[in-house]
Amino acid sequence: MHFVIIGGGPAGVEAAATASRNGAQVTLIEREIIGGAANLWDCIPSKAMIATGGVRSLARRSVTLGMELHYENPDLEVLRARMTMISERLSSSTERQLRGQGVTILRGAGRLVGDHQVAVQVEGEEVERLLVADAILLATGSTPRIPEWAVVDGDRILTTRQAYPPPVIPEHLIVIGSGVTGVEFVHLFRSFGSRVSLVVSRQQVLPQKDPEVAAALETDFLETNVSLIKGARAIDIRRTESGVSVYCEDGRVVGGSHALLAIGSVPSSAALGLDSAGVDVNDAGYVAINHHCQTNVPHIYAGGDLSGRLQLASVAAMQGRKIAEHVVGLHTRNHRHLDYDKAASAIFTEPEIADVGLAEAEAFALGQKIRVTKVPFAVNAKAMIDGDPRGFVKLVSDPNTGVVLGGSIVGAHAAELISVIALAVQANLRVDDISDALFVHPALADVIAAAAE
Ligand SMILES: Cc1cc2nc3c(=O)[nH]c(=O)nc-3n(C[C@H](O)[C@H](O)[C@H](O)COP(=O)(O)OP(=O)(O)OC[C@H]3O[C@@H](n4cnc5c(N)ncnc54)[C@H](O)[C@@H]3O)c2cc1C
Repeated sequence: MHFVIIGGGPAGVEAAATASRNGAQVTLIEREIIGGAANLWDCIPSKAMIATGGVRSLARRSVTLGMELHYENPDLEVLRARMTMISERLSSSTERQLRGQGVTILRGAGRLVGDHQVAVQVEGEEVERLLVADAILLATGSTPRIPEWAVVDGDRILTTRQAYPPPVIPEHLIVIGSGVTGVEFVHLFRSFGSRVSLVVSRQQVLPQKDPEVAAALETDFLETNVSLIKGARAIDIRRTESGVSVYCEDGRVVGGSHALLAIGSVPSSAALGLDSAGVDVNDAGYVAINHHCQTNVPHIYAGGDLSGRLQLASVAAMQGRKIAEHVVGLHTRNHRHLDYDKAASAIFTEPEIADVGLAEAEAFALGQKIRVTKVPFAVNAKAMIDGDPRGFVKLVSDPNTGVVLGGSIVGAHAAELISVIALAVQANLRVDDISDALFVHPALADVIAAAAE
């Protein structure tokens, strides 16, 4: 069984590791870096910058903790070197592990040239190699969406990929797009000392999230002088003598020193040769897949952002694992389909936000009966000790059976804490299972146990 994978992001890497562990001959083609955009452009650099910005907020709280810290502006060179070091270390350890398992890694761009053939332009080689595969995974990810009205110059008008970090810290940054990526960049640059304005096309930031969760973030943004320009759809950006102007559909004009586009992504499918293998895409250009991540050509799979499902590295990796299990035939025993509704996700703002499963507003819209319990961190010993009692835990359960259906957390370390609720949702645990568990004290997780009582 020769399994050829195009794209070495979370989906490709996890599929390669799982398939080779289970006896397949695996070739992984990657043109940039093992670990993918997740490692080079998305998850890792954004969170590395947020970690640096976190020093400022700790310094702000430090006076109440009895040891006042003073901060300087971030040293961009140290930050840049740190981000490169983290990315390279992650990439090289993954590559070493894959090679150790017998995966063949080819550096270069791959494309389909038939339904069983993949051509690879390997770096440093003049002639394309032709691989014949029994199964193929397309996992080439996505790139930031640039609307036709924006001319990205990498100087004043940026995509997220040019902000790691930009040449200078913007004096006044206008972020366009108030989804997960947009609000993370608002948080990141306000913590670096920039003045930030956020262009929000609806009346709520994070339009897909529980309104109470979104409101908690909005409150925090307003308290730190972030300007929220709501109900404003950006239609143009122009450079001015001293910066940029963002024009909105309703006539409002927002001026600043820099603008950052965070309005979603487009699939990296243009040069993949999909037509040569007869692989279908949907209206939005993503490769259409079934519940096994098979395309309309059954031995060609698609995973990660290219498949247009939940665009998360964790989901991409899980798709990769499930695809590999299907390719080697493991799906016939002990295999569970990936349930996208049970994926936990987090937003690394301050306070952090994380959720999983059914949200209160969603249950309300579905007319589903639920029990909701909400406990604030303000009553939690550890939150008081740490000097950051913002936020709450909200637990959603079935009122008849007590089975945990979902939850949201706003507050420090929400991205870590949500794992408890994610496990409960995945394993159909009941609220009693959580409240009977002997958690550590004092710990932030005490609030989850209290919400489960
Ligand atoms: C700013 C930002 C922050 C994010 N933060 C998070 C986060 O904190 N947590 C989270 O879970 N998700 C996060 N995401 C989403 C996450 O990065 C993506 O969902 C994830 O990277 C998708 O993984 P993937 O497997 O599709 O591949 P990608 O990571 O997109 O990688 C695809 C790889 O394919 C390669 N490739 C493309 N075409 C070819 C070709 N023809 N031949 C060979 N190689 C090719 C590319 O070089 C790339 O390395 C973030 C996204 C953004 C934009």
